[in-house]
Amino acid sequence: MRAVFGGSFDPVHIGHLRMATELAEALDLDQVALMPCYQPVHKHGLGASAAQRLAMLERAVIDNPRLSIDRRELDRGAYSYSIDSVRSLREEAPGPVIMVMGSDSAAGLASWREAEQFASQCHLVVIERPLPQGGEQSWKAVCEALGFCRVAQPQALHGADSGLYLPLRLNLLEVSSTFIRNAVKQNRSIRYLVTDAVERYICDNGLYQANLGGSPR
Ligand code: ATP
Repeated sequence: MRAVFGGSFDPVHIGHLRMATELAEALDLDQVALMPCYQPVHKHGLGASAAQRLAMLERAVIDNPRLSIDRRELDRGAYSYSIDSVRSLREEAPGPVIMVMGSDSAAGLASWREAEQFASQCHLVVIERPLPQGGEQSWKAVCEALGFCRVAQPQALHGADSGLYLPLRLNLLEVSSTFIRNAVKQNRSIRYLVTDAVERYICDNGLYQANLGGSPR
């Protein structure tokens, strides 16, 4: 089984790294892949270029063999549609593909391109994140309406090639890329929120500062 965890990683932070690490443990996986998008469909204006976001990811995972980077969306160089990535992962090697996402993302899954195709292509592992009241029911209903069947234990994901979803509760850290970009812009410290090497890269390259303007690609 291969698990991929997509995002803009603008920049990658300790919340992403802990989540991927705990996920690998919970699912007993040798490796979890972080898959940066080139141009997110649901977000506007990234703070760092694709090359810079990749450089930060490389620095963040370099000493952790359990975390890898899947560059396919960056290499494709267009809007990043998850269904294309899942299909290309399946073409590359046999065996189930697990798409990992927060429950905030799962709640909006029905609006993703070819949403009704996901259940025939992959499993979902949904990391439960705090949602507004009623949100929990709604993301589960979205998964089920799209043809996914719920399982309660990670081992159950081995029981089928695709079409299962596992809600998973992990120890989430209260940090976001938005918080980090804002902190840099306001000249506040980001120490301990990103790895030292990522902090150094942001500083050396003047990323996320208020006076740079524009939106790099
Ligand atoms: P932004 O603040 O720019 O929206 P973000 O911090 O949410 O960014 P993304 O790169 O958009 O990061 O997130 C990629 C994935 O990481 C999403 O599935 C999201 O649910 C998850 N994620 C984001 N922050 C955390 C966190 N602190 N702990 C666990 N998962 C997280």
